[in-house]
Amino acid sequence: MAYPSVMEKWPDRGPSGRIAYVNGRYLRHGEASVHVEDRGLQFGDSIYEVCRVEAGVLLDEQGHLDRLERSLAAIELPMPVARGALPRIMRELIRRNRLRDGLIYLQVTRGAFRRDHPIPDSAARPTLILTARTGDPAMAAARLAQGVKIITRPDERWARRDIKTTQLLPAILAKTAAKRAGAAEAWLVDGDGFVTEGGSTNGWIVDAGGTLVTRPLSRDILPGVTRAVVLAAAGEAGLTVAERKFTVAEAYAAREAFLTSASGAAVPVVGIDGRAIGDGRAGPLTLRLQELYAERSGGGLG
Ligand code: PLP
Repeated sequence: MAYPSVMEKWPDRGPSGRIAYVNGRYLRHGEASVHVEDRGLQFGDSIYEVCRVEAGVLLDEQGHLDRLERSLAAIELPMPVARGALPRIMRELIRRNRLRDGLIYLQVTRGAFRRDHPIPDSAARPTLILTARTGDPAMAAARLAQGVKIITRPDERWARRDIKTTQLLPAILAKTAAKRAGAAEAWLVDGDGFVTEGGSTNGWIVDAGGTLVTRPLSRDILPGVTRAVVLAAAGEAGLTVAERKFTVAEAYAAREAFLTSASGAAVPVVGIDGRAIGDGRAGPLTLRLQELYAERSGGGLG
């Protein structure tokens, strides 16, 4: 079954690379599909991961696989294939799409069952989907150099944000508001005025004393794989780091601010809610962390 309309009319809006993977098969993207009763579609009963590919190499692969296992266990969903098979599938997808720089998207759903909320008692039959998307290294490098503007929004997500589920409506709405405001991300703010994280990134500031600050891990935020690599790199480089909550007011007054995610490690935040952060340009510590990340992850900048 093909759904050619989007791909043919607006090739730039076509979802992803030429070849997708669905349950053991590599298929032309337009022909790859799942069952209409798939619980990923019906309920958002599914987990996902996004891995960065740079110069054909998967970055932070083990961290993403660890988190995938953890998220799946949290919703009682078994691994769809042995863990060792996943890197092979990801590499094969990179090869078949001739992907140099971009992202691999991986999703595991609970599979197709007659629609009923409780987790089915019958044997597990998870759906495994992977797609590949080409990135633009020049654009990524420009973003790392010039930074982005962001806005703040109330955090309206559920109480288990540590699980990487595809139930992303609150993030979709917040990031849409950001886009309409000419911003690249929304920092989500909890009921006490503290920033939890971005809609699809972890949030960091450099406070008045020069300390690198990011919210500690809990059920309030996603344990970002890039966050962990940047934290370790900062620690090894002898930078002063504090895992503590910070408020929006503190972020406005910060010397520097930045975002981390698989699609960009230490992306400078140069404005929040229309206020310039620091001198309104990428800060020195942020740029240093970009270098430290690139050294650790084995990739280059961009
Ligand atoms: N926080 C949220 C809510 C996210 O969706 C993501 C990534 O998608 C991140 C943080 C960053 O995580 P990672 O560095 O593993 O990409």
